[in-house]
Amino acid sequence: MPEKNHVMQKTAPAIFFGHGSPGNVMEDNAITQCWEALGHEIGKPRGIICVSAHWYTHGIYVSAAAKPDTIHDFGGFPQEMYRLQYPAAGAPELAAAIAARLAPLDVTPDPERGFDHGSWCVLSKVYPDADVPVVQVSMDMTLPPEAHFEIGKRLGTFRDEGYLLMGSGNIVHNLPEMDWQMRSGAYDWATRFGDHIRASIEADTPQGIVNYAAQGRDATLSVPSPDHYLPLLYVMGARRPNDSLRFETTVVEYGSLDMTSVVIGA
Ligand code: ZN
Repeated sequence: MPEKNHVMQKTAPAIFFGHGSPGNVMEDNAITQCWEALGHEIGKPRGIICVSAHWYTHGIYVSAAAKPDTIHDFGGFPQEMYRLQYPAAGAPELAAAIAARLAPLDVTPDPERGFDHGSWCVLSKVYPDADVPVVQVSMDMTLPPEAHFEIGKRLGTFRDEGYLLMGSGNIVHNLPEMDWQMRSGAYDWATRFGDHIRASIEADTPQGIVNYAAQGRDATLSVPSPDHYLPLLYVMGARRPNDSLRFETTVVEYGSLDMTSVVIGA
């Protein structure tokens, strides 16, 4: 058995997770092993602020329940997956602090909101003991990309207080184009778009990430709707000049699902 996660002593990292299929939560594969290893390597933060592709709203909400439910927001998976629970605590006081720090943006606490699969399917592997409190922040679908980047910058200030900023989505996410016969393998446009985004991150040129639409048809196919892409902008907004950077699991599954994770400041 691996040792238990140690408690983090420094500024917390910011991590974008390429989450892919919810079915990963039931699997033991290269992706889930990477998530487990990350949890051991970085240790336990004081809490997690999670921006997930699966909470995309009009206006900004923050989850404010003390004991959030596990939301089974997917279809067509084995029955046992619908019984899985991720019993991490919420953190209503952190939710209030987030709302205050994002002012004058209007942030509405949601006392009913649970964890969607973009958060719990990943965190079940990273922190399987569910002993790190988690608050989710929704993405306002009416805002332009640069506004999401700016909100990420402000949420990133919580890193100094020991809170990990987590984005959960996929750099390339096109479900209708997915080829189920191609477990690993990428369409050319998916490769080009993913390479452009990784190169922009590597060069620390945020405009290449924020202005992703400039990639034309490659962007239209890779990001047919912004929900899975935008969580990356929050993590990039939270990046600082001296942060370490690395990519994990830079593979494309089913032709159009880029599983890249980006680890900042770990
Ligand atoms: Zn998803």
